[in-house]
Amino acid sequence: MTKGRILIVEDSKQQADLTRELLEKNGYEVVWASDGISGIKTIGTTSFDLILLDLILPDMSGNDVCRWLKLNNDTKGIPIIMLTVKDSLDDKVSSLEAGADEYLAKPYNEVELNVMIYAALRTKALQDELKQRNKQMVELLTKVEFLAITDSLTGLYNRRYFDNVLKKELTEGKRYRKSVACLMMDIDNFKQINDTYGHETGDYVLKEIAASLKTIFREADTIARWGGEEFIVMMPHTDMNGASSPASKILKAIDEKKFDKIPDEHITVSIGVACSGETYNTPDILVNASDLALYEAKRKGKNRIEVAPGE
Ligand code: GH3
Ligand code: MG
Ligand code: MG
Ligand code: MG
Repeated sequence: MTKGRILIVEDSKQQADLTRELLEKNGYEVVWASDGISGIKTIGTTSFDLILLDLILPDMSGNDVCRWLKLNNDTKGIPIIMLTVKDSLDDKVSSLEAGADEYLAKPYNEVELNVMIYAALRTKALQDELKQRNKQMVELLTKVEFLAITDSLTGLYNRRYFDNVLKKELTEGKRYRKSVACLMMDIDNFKQINDTYGHETGDYVLKEIAASLKTIFREADTIARWGGEEFIVMMPHTDMNGASSPASKILKAIDEKKFDKIPDEHITVSIGVACSGETYNTPDILVNASDLALYEAKRKGKNRIEVAPGE
């Protein structure tokens, strides 16, 4: 196990050999590239923990190599120590501006080079750890965010998320004078399923119906579990004409659906639909209108669609 893999980009073989010997003695694995292009190519194929970069190279300047590596997302995290015979303040400044992390004049002091490498690797290790933690944090936040907007049983959106989206879409709808359709759906006589087959089978039916909803509505529509055995769908840019087709489709799909676990059961749903406009112009009023229409569908005998009175 080495302490790290270091790339030396140096045109003088003699100098490179000296540095290699020193680094290998100290437990590092060393790769040598004799010019800028082959250095960049090597970095593209092998991962390195640190680069010792000569300022004056036959094909391009060390500063240009440095700039290139620091612009590239895959390589910008590798610490670069500039090694050069030049020792003016201007050179030092231009190398640091190019993105070098450290600058050491040749002939270098061995102890100083060692300490510099040690410090740069330690900084890199801390940065890598921080990056890893940030990644874990982002993953965790994504998961939390997902859980906060999802109904755990059906995988559909939950009511909170639906409320937010409906509010946004109604505002958009008003601006572009487009109607938003709201469809409220309730499973008929669901209590009886639970009472006959148990709660677990009831859950199975809820999941199956949620899956059917997903196949019928468009990507732009938002399907949510409103609560218990009620589902709600928001269709942007949709008037009653546009809403009637998916509403009929879902009614028919559930009516004809075979539930493998309860093959003898015939399950139906009732649906209420309302569309936004002058009358139904806030989320609460619109949802309430679709709920009243649903109530009307239940009252008229279930397994049917009722629409809220028009504008
Ligand atoms: P209606 O046709 O009038 O809608 O009658 P219904 O039996 O479907 O309606 P009711 O409101 O009487 O009963 C709804 C049932 O839904 C009662 C409740 O136990 C059940 N329920 C609510 N949430 C869940 C759930 O998450 N899982 C299961 N298995 N059952 C649930
Ligand atoms: Mg040189
Ligand atoms: Mg019901
Ligand atoms: Mg209900």
